[in-house]
Amino acid sequence: MHNWSDGKIIDVYDLSDYKDKWGYDYHMFHRIDLHEQLQLKAKSLGVTIVVDHKAVDVDFVHGIVTFDDGTSTRVDLIVAADGVRSCMRDLIGIVPQTKQCTSTCYRCIIPTSRVKQLGLKDFAPNKGIEFWGGFGINKIVLTSCSDGEIVAFYCFYPAEHNDRSEEGWNFSATSSMLCAHYPDLDPDLLTIFQHVEDIKLWKLVVHEPYPYWVKGRVALLGDAAHPMLPDQSQGSCMAIEDAAALALIFSPEYWGKTVHTVEHGLQLYEQLRKPRATRVQEASARARENLNERIGWSTKRGNDNLENKMGKLTIDEINTYDMNEHFKTLVNTHLPANSIH
Ligand SMILES: Cc1cc2nc3c(=O)[nH]c(=O)nc-3n(C[C@H](O)[C@H](O)[C@H](O)COP(=O)(O)OP(=O)(O)OC[C@H]3O[C@@H](n4cnc5c(N)ncnc54)[C@H](O)[C@@H]3O)c2cc1C
Repeated sequence: MHNWSDGKIIDVYDLSDYKDKWGYDYHMFHRIDLHEQLQLKAKSLGVTIVVDHKAVDVDFVHGIVTFDDGTSTRVDLIVAADGVRSCMRDLIGIVPQTKQCTSTCYRCIIPTSRVKQLGLKDFAPNKGIEFWGGFGINKIVLTSCSDGEIVAFYCFYPAEHNDRSEEGWNFSATSSMLCAHYPDLDPDLLTIFQHVEDIKLWKLVVHEPYPYWVKGRVALLGDAAHPMLPDQSQGSCMAIEDAAALALIFSPEYWGKTVHTVEHGLQLYEQLRKPRATRVQEASARARENLNERIGWSTKRGNDNLENKMGKLTIDEINTYDMNEHFKTLVNTHLPANSIH
């Protein structure tokens, strides 16, 4: 944790014992590397990936998806992972309750080779997530990824200072637009910001948890089911857990034995996933303006008295979760008939 105006380190949450403590390596992925790995894995399993093929309608009873070129396909199960602006979500009758977030976010990157070439401050060797601010709206989050080859920044500022209508992956902002929001920020960061690439702007929207995620043969997954603010860095993690849950429920261990129909399996999916993803979604909103709510900082020394810990999301809770055990417990409990949508 850095001081906002001069970058001085004011606190450290040491994760060097991460693997000893939780048994996993700690990875920070560059988005495109993760996409590539997921694609390679899917292809190695024989999956055919079709792009530029937009779904526009769904028959959730019969499992029919219609695409914008007029074609349609009939399948047993439809996993609707169509993101925060999901049209499948609308088509299964969910009306999102949303409000504009207090904050807007720039995301940008710089290759470490460029940092070195220009003689800028090199944060990559720290191999950590570094924060400036975080108590209030303004916050800069720095992570190094791709084995230290890329440094990425998430830069939050008040939404009321944003006068642009464009946003997302298709809108490129400039470094002067970025720097203008942070006149009193650590000069080392501002110098880096003058050279960053791929600057994207994200208008953030707070979604209340949805009443349900599945209908008939359709299951929402990832941001379509539980869009969350980026302040716990858990959106993709929860999407991947959703996918793992579907793989478990429809695995030979359960399919045809405990789980007899697609609809039943999807009801179990919602029961398995919704409480945990909703908790992370709500904790992400709380962490937007309070870094002490973020996993890691939520249990740091001095912030770990009982009152503070109550209800906060912790690394322990994220990392010690056992989906297999949870599912075993779930299938042994009664699934109320009125939970079928
Ligand atoms: C600034 C920012 C920082 C973030 N940082 C992190 C982080 O550090 N860690 C983390 O875990 N998460 C992070 N996230 C969240 C993460 O990006 C999302 O949670 C994740 O991308 C969700 O994956 P998804 O597959 O559900 O949706 P998406 O990644 O949005 O993918 C949806 C896909 O569906 C396609 N699609 C949309 N509509 C249709 C349609 N009608 N037919 C067919 N295809 C369609 C889209 O083209 C897209 O390819 C961050 C998000 C933001 C905005």
